[in-house]
Amino acid sequence: MSNNIAPEEEQKICVGCGFCCDGTLFIHAVLKPGERTTAPEKIREQVFNEGEKDYFWLPCTYFSDKCLIYDSKRADVCGSYRCQLLRDFAGGKITLEEALGVVKEARAMRSELMGQYRHLTGNNEEMHFIRLLMKLGKLQETGREDEQPDMDLEILLARCNIFETLLIKHFRSAGDFGKMQITNDVKPAKTGDKSF
Ligand code: SF4
Ligand code: SF4
Repeated sequence: MSNNIAPEEEQKICVGCGFCCDGTLFIHAVLKPGERTTAPEKIREQVFNEGEKDYFWLPCTYFSDKCLIYDSKRADVCGSYRCQLLRDFAGGKITLEEALGVVKEARAMRSELMGQYRHLTGNNEEMHFIRLLMKLGKLQETGREDEQPDMDLEILLARCNIFETLLIKHFRSAGDFGKMQITNDVKPAKTGDKSF
């Protein structure tokens, strides 16, 4: 397990973000061999196995606007994962203000998409972004019960694609793509493996 603490300025970026924990970027995170039994309790409750690797489902139940166990021992991936945005910031490619601006813009876009989905479907349940994509995928396959023209749905899907492009550009690294995995349970979503 890890209690890696990021540099203070990187923490400022992460605290306003949370995308790698809350189901916006990934649907699961990988555990190191042997961590299955030693990871924090709520992570252990969300563990599953695929091939020779152990994973835990995201959103993480320790996430509530921020990591609730940040200062404690977490899974190794929690301390070691660094998205493209953090790498760009650490490498001097963007300033702190720019990084914070990217996070702010992404959060605003995501919340707009969630609002549009609720408006379109009347479904007010709390859900993370990848689940929203899965729901939209299903809707696209089956059509809506009220048989309204699907133009609104198509527009929402197009906006989700734009949002995903932003996530890919700013948050997912090329390494993440190399590790992308689709499980049977999450087929419609573009999911990655939080596993540095
Ligand atoms: S996605 Fe990047 S900036 Fe956001 S919380 Fe994760 S590591 Fe931090
Ligand atoms: S323990 Fe904290 S850092 Fe790790 S996945 Fe959960 S919320 Fe994120």
